[in-house]
Amino acid sequence: MPDDPADPADPEDPGVPDDPARGLPRAGDGAAWVVDLDGVVWRGGEPIPGAGDAVALLRGAGGRVLFASNNSSPTLEELIERLRVAGIAAGRDEIVTSGMAAAEMLDPGGHALVVGDDGLMEALAARGVHATRATHDRTGAAPVFDAVVVGYTKRFDYDVLAIVADAVRAGARLIGTNEDAVLPTSGGLLPGTGAILAAVATASGATPVVAGKPHQPLATLITERVARIAAVVGDRPSTDGALARRLGVPYALVLTGVTTRAGDDLDPAPDFVGKDLRAVAQAATHGHAGSR
Ligand SMILES: [Mg+2]
Repeated sequence: MPDDPADPADPEDPGVPDDPARGLPRAGDGAAWVVDLDGVVWRGGEPIPGAGDAVALLRGAGGRVLFASNNSSPTLEELIERLRVAGIAAGRDEIVTSGMAAAEMLDPGGHALVVGDDGLMEALAARGVHATRATHDRTGAAPVFDAVVVGYTKRFDYDVLAIVADAVRAGARLIGTNEDAVLPTSGGLLPGTGAILAAVATASGATPVVAGKPHQPLATLITERVARIAAVVGDRPSTDGALARRLGVPYALVLTGVTTRAGDDLDPAPDFVGKDLRAVAQAATHGHAGSR
């Protein structure tokens, strides 16, 4: 059955379809490939072999690459350095994060109380938002915040929860960078941003709005950056795949991250499955004069 994306009876079959380019557009014409980072370009801090070649293939064929990550922790310079280590030269305008999307939800000059790391603080500052990290040492009258913004961080405890829940009850919007429940690591699953956001939502009684994949704020940021999108490439159907559906473009699943085999249970179903980013790029550039 060559059209069957996976044979569930065969644990060795990763479910990669036989037709190498089925469901994928050809790279070229300046259309952008929206490429996830964690589980696609690197995993657990280590570059995934072939990712650098893949980006060179797509660019060589005339495609653009826009990296889109739900991880709001690293700063732009940190992301550019990690990409460089992976063999990819990227400019600041070629990266979008859930932190940037969250920042876009606030007006310049607004005030945000933040649970999150440096990348989120940087994104808010770049937007012109006055960002204050939620800390234990609260003195004097609490200022009025337009929003509580929750991103990934390990600096979170009961006292911080109490402070930000207070701010939400006082009228601040509750914004999450993303809602991923868990963070896969080489040592197992760790609590993700969604777990922190759920704690704040429960303690404050508010319903959060979420900025990152697959939600509209990051989709809007992407369409503001690039005129045309070829496809979304990522390891997580619930975020990368659903983002592709929202953008109305094909979804290419790679098996180097949280999803390790294709199957009928994936939602949304990918339009293409590659074992890694290089396989996606090779399929998208097959037959192109500019490809290697
Ligand atoms: Mg990923």
